[in-house]
Amino acid sequence: MEIDIRVLGCGAAAGVPMISSGWGACNPKNPKNNRLRSSLYANVDGVGLLFDTGPDLREQLLRMNAGSGDDRPVIDAIIYTHLHADHTDGVNELREINKLNNAALPIYADEPTMKSLKERFWYGFEQIDLATTPLFHVLLKENIIKPYCPFMVKGVEVKPFLQGHGYMDTLGFRIGDFAYSTDASSLDERALDTLSGVKVWVVGCLDYGYHPTHAGVEQILKWYELVKPDRIILTHMGNHLDYDELCAKLPENIRPAYDGMKIKIDN
Ligand SMILES: [Zn+2]
Repeated sequence: MEIDIRVLGCGAAAGVPMISSGWGACNPKNPKNNRLRSSLYANVDGVGLLFDTGPDLREQLLRMNAGSGDDRPVIDAIIYTHLHADHTDGVNELREINKLNNAALPIYADEPTMKSLKERFWYGFEQIDLATTPLFHVLLKENIIKPYCPFMVKGVEVKPFLQGHGYMDTLGFRIGDFAYSTDASSLDERALDTLSGVKVWVVGCLDYGYHPTHAGVEQILKWYELVKPDRIILTHMGNHLDYDELCAKLPENIRPAYDGMKIKIDN
């Protein structure tokens, strides 16, 4: 199995810089501190999986192919971590992927997330016949998923696991030796078991200390001891986390992500 990861965005809900508080502790001169909202792309043996569709999706997909049109993004399915706006609000941009694929796009989400998507973007679930009707809105095909019930996307097995996100739950996902866990403040025994043996784990980290709905650096270091992956890559970072400062403070195999970061995993 060959997995090519691209971190499309590694910022928290408001991105960095933030409209309210600017760059915070982040050095504005370091382009690695300029963070779009969190999203991640995984190409697994040619199958393209996009995790979440945040409000920066258009910019993120353009950056993937530099707008050239000759290296267009391969997206076979969208996998949602949860329903929050910073992870879902770019859904209308998927109409461009509908055009590329000339088909409705399969989306995978748990029940509460699907319900929220259907309430807010109801038109995306009304199917139109592409052979006879112009594509005038995004076209989605729903697939409900549950934690600990693995599902297949074009032959790729995806294992969802449950994460605590303060007052609600989110889903983390494992594919082969890779796992993605954003917006998690707690992981139970079963989730940690699912992560066991993972090589590269991309994990949401909002700040240094405690936060009721997100892990911070302290919590990540505890998880690192329990899961012992080869590498942890931090994402969903707020403006208290400067790239160079994090690199100086953390062990070498725990690194902050930056937008556009590429990671290759061969099993
Ligand atoms: Zn969230």
